[in-house]
Amino acid sequence: MEDTFKHQGWRRQMVDALREKGIADESVLRAMTEVPRHLFLETMLDYMAYEDRALPIKCGQTISQPSTVAFQSALLDAKADMKVLEVGTGSGYQTAVLCALGLRVFTIERQKELFDLSKKRLQALKYRAKCFLGDGYKGLPEYAPFDRILITCGAPEVPADLLQQLKVGGVMVVPVGGDRQEMLRIAKMGDKDSDLLQQRFGDCNFVPMLEKLDYGGK
Ligand code: SAH
Repeated sequence: MEDTFKHQGWRRQMVDALREKGIADESVLRAMTEVPRHLFLETMLDYMAYEDRALPIKCGQTISQPSTVAFQSALLDAKADMKVLEVGTGSGYQTAVLCALGLRVFTIERQKELFDLSKKRLQALKYRAKCFLGDGYKGLPEYAPFDRILITCGAPEVPADLLQQLKVGGVMVVPVGGDRQEMLRIAKMGDKDSDLLQQRFGDCNFVPMLEKLDYGGK
């Protein structure tokens, strides 16, 4: 599949709609104008790729809806060259948006099938993220600390190991809760628990963050 003028036109309309919905971060809007979301979906969903909706991907998971990707990316408030850990690679779309923002991206996925597919896809599209098959609860201690951590699945609570892997001065964006979650932005101002500054950004709805790897029975 390619990135045709038709797709580019749909994408510009998507970004205009995001702007109308209140996304004001121009670097995020620019990144989302660049990344061809339809290439992160199954071909038959192509025509829905630029509507503001979550869509099914393999393994019963979903690609986050564009406004959620924009919102989480803007909350992250990352500057070029920062080291970012993403939990939940899924389709690889959010990963690509982080790459297009000029960040050094490390991404973890627990489902082998999604890990294989998104790694291949990101490489083919020349996004230079480092992809890992692993349990996001554990993070990547060997690559820590990170300037930013973005969790794209619903965590029952803020993952403690990941807070450890966040730099002082760093920011984590994480949806926390059960069936529905609340979007939190946590700024780490120092090493003590009392140095965590937490802001709430309303309800959201992500697939759950689960423990352990999933090889899909293969
Ligand atoms: N960022 C993705 C969103 C995918 S949905 C995108 O843009 O497409 C969330 C993903 O988190 C799913 O693929 C799910 O398998 C993964 N996930 C859930 N728990 C996880 C964990 N503990 N570690 C890593 N990935 C996890």
